[in-house]
Amino acid sequence: MNQPDCIFCKVVSGQIPSVKIFENEHVLAFLDIGPVSDGHTLVIPKAHCSRLDDVEPQAMLEIAKVLPKLAATVQKAMNASAYNVLCNNGAAAGQVVEHLHFHIIPRNADDDVFNHWPAYQYPENKATEIAEKIKQNLNL
Ligand code: AMP
Ligand code: ZN
Repeated sequence: MNQPDCIFCKVVSGQIPSVKIFENEHVLAFLDIGPVSDGHTLVIPKAHCSRLDDVEPQAMLEIAKVLPKLAATVQKAMNASAYNVLCNNGAAAGQVVEHLHFHIIPRNADDDVFNHWPAYQYPENKATEIAEKIKQNLNL
């Protein structure tokens, strides 16, 4: 269940101290040690899994039960007007700790936390081609 060399498994077991804001049998929420805004919180399943696509459905369900309320509560407590929920999966996506975690990041207008969303537009037909490729790979 726990992986000996995983930082967040050590947080779960108490080997590494953390500032906890919520805990139950399956889920732990604690303050990020390197916040990008006050109240930046991490929500993790207690059972080790590395990313969103290898979490057990039951563990994800337990996260789903508490994440919305945790996010709303963190926002309110920080007097923020908004929040991001972020889940980095894989090094290229910015994942540093390979134990699934959801960032709750309280936000305010003009806070400059993320000020660049590199959106672009698909050229003609590209969107349908891409959708086809994804659907061919789907196995739900
Ligand atoms: P990510 O880049 O999505 O893997 O995010 C990992 C996050 O974990 C970073 O925001 C770190 O600041 C945070 N972090 C790493 N170690 C600890 C720790 N011991 N306690 C709390 N947060 C941590
Ligand atoms: Zn772990």
